[in-house]
Amino acid sequence: MRAERSSSYQQQLGKGRSPGHHLIITASTRMSRHTQAKRIEGLDRNIWVVFAGMTSNPSIVSLAQGKPDIPPPSYVKEALAKAAAVDDLNQYTRGFGHPRLVKALSQVYGKVCGRQIDPFKEILVTVGAYGSLFNSMQGLVNEGDEVIIMEPYFDCYLPMVKMAGAKPVLIPLRVKSGKKPTTSADWSLDPEELSSKFNSKTKAIILNTPNNPTGKVFTREELQMIADLCIKHDTLCISDEVYEWLVYKGRQHVKIATLPGMWERTITVSSGGKIFCATGWKIGWSIGPEHLIKHLQTITQNSTFMCATPLQEAMAESLLHNFELMDQPECFFTSFPEELKTKRDRLAAVLQEVGMTPIIPEGGFFMLVDVTSLNQDLSHTGDDGEAYDWKFVRWMITEKKLAAIPITSFVGDESKKMFEKYIRFCFFRKDSTLDAAVDIFKNWNQS
Ligand code: PMP
Ligand code: GLN
Repeated sequence: MRAERSSSYQQQLGKGRSPGHHLIITASTRMSRHTQAKRIEGLDRNIWVVFAGMTSNPSIVSLAQGKPDIPPPSYVKEALAKAAAVDDLNQYTRGFGHPRLVKALSQVYGKVCGRQIDPFKEILVTVGAYGSLFNSMQGLVNEGDEVIIMEPYFDCYLPMVKMAGAKPVLIPLRVKSGKKPTTSADWSLDPEELSSKFNSKTKAIILNTPNNPTGKVFTREELQMIADLCIKHDTLCISDEVYEWLVYKGRQHVKIATLPGMWERTITVSSGGKIFCATGWKIGWSIGPEHLIKHLQTITQNSTFMCATPLQEAMAESLLHNFELMDQPECFFTSFPEELKTKRDRLAAVLQEVGMTPIIPEGGFFMLVDVTSLNQDLSHTGDDGEAYDWKFVRWMITEKKLAAIPITSFVGDESKKMFEKYIRFCFFRKDSTLDAAVDIFKNWNQS
């Protein structure tokens, strides 16, 4: 014992070795302290970081990231200027959500959900929808748990589940065999396959409707099938509904939390940035029963503590403005999808003209496109192991000066083959940006 201790002392002090060895030990010990935490191993690559670099050249027309180049309505910007002019509103506010905002949210969602929502116990304001998703994982999911994620998925779900120490269990949306999808409704979950993913370790399922990237709006029947499994296996549902107001005519957004037996097991996530074309505001919220929201509050109070007060005040003002108009054509929640539909249809028409196959989205502001029919030979480009969609997008950026997002960024390894001929375009762009994209498509075969 004594001998062991003395040899370890000697090692620490570098005794009995050359002076140089002492320095090496000290340096390598220090280096090992500089290594990453285990929970972020393998999570350093991020599609949005990569694409910020790939599309930074202003000569590239970017229909890649979901970052609108259209300003928020003027009353939204004015509300922020007004809030910043009030001295008190430049200071901290209530940590779990500025009182005016949580009250406005309880009015809006109370009406949508047809139930009273306690502004202080059943709503939490977070740094974007990202904040709500992160708080849900950290506050509710344990090491060793399993969390079901549908493919293609919004990319952050997977790393967030892993950072909580849990195992992501993937299930792809599938197209009925022999069918070529033409709308996002052609993709669905196979009920038996979904059922096989649930087991005693399943803590939660992440739902995203309207879906990014497919544009799928889950029907009431599809949601009921998911709800039945959640109830049967006593599982939570994290429902990401950031595009809840962006649903096109003929479709209806249904909140899974409103189905029988689901309120008490669902966290509904949404984003003010998405609602008002103000993605830079990063104001999101989680809505759910007190017994779940309180655990997300614990994460908030020990991480970001609160969100910017003037932004919350302005968000409250903007929501209340539209609450007064709800169900009338002037309400932004109604008028905005109409405006976006024109853009969606314009992009779809030009894509068809050049021989690509657009998958018409039922909601959101992204459109998947099947590029198979272009028969672009990319076998000699990129890395050998790289999926076709990545090669295609790199080629398109270089040769056509047009950017989109490769869909395999949103799926696991096993589903890559199924999705590698799809790329995602964002059509939430001002007309002049869409004009520039249309010109590129019209001249597609000339260069
Ligand atoms: N979920 C989905 C499906 C999204 O597309 C986004 C887009 N940013 C987010 C969450 C994050 O929203 P926020 O910017 O409010 O954090
Ligand atoms: N949600 C946006 C998209 O899907 C981007 C998110 C981000 O930039 N991190 O394009």
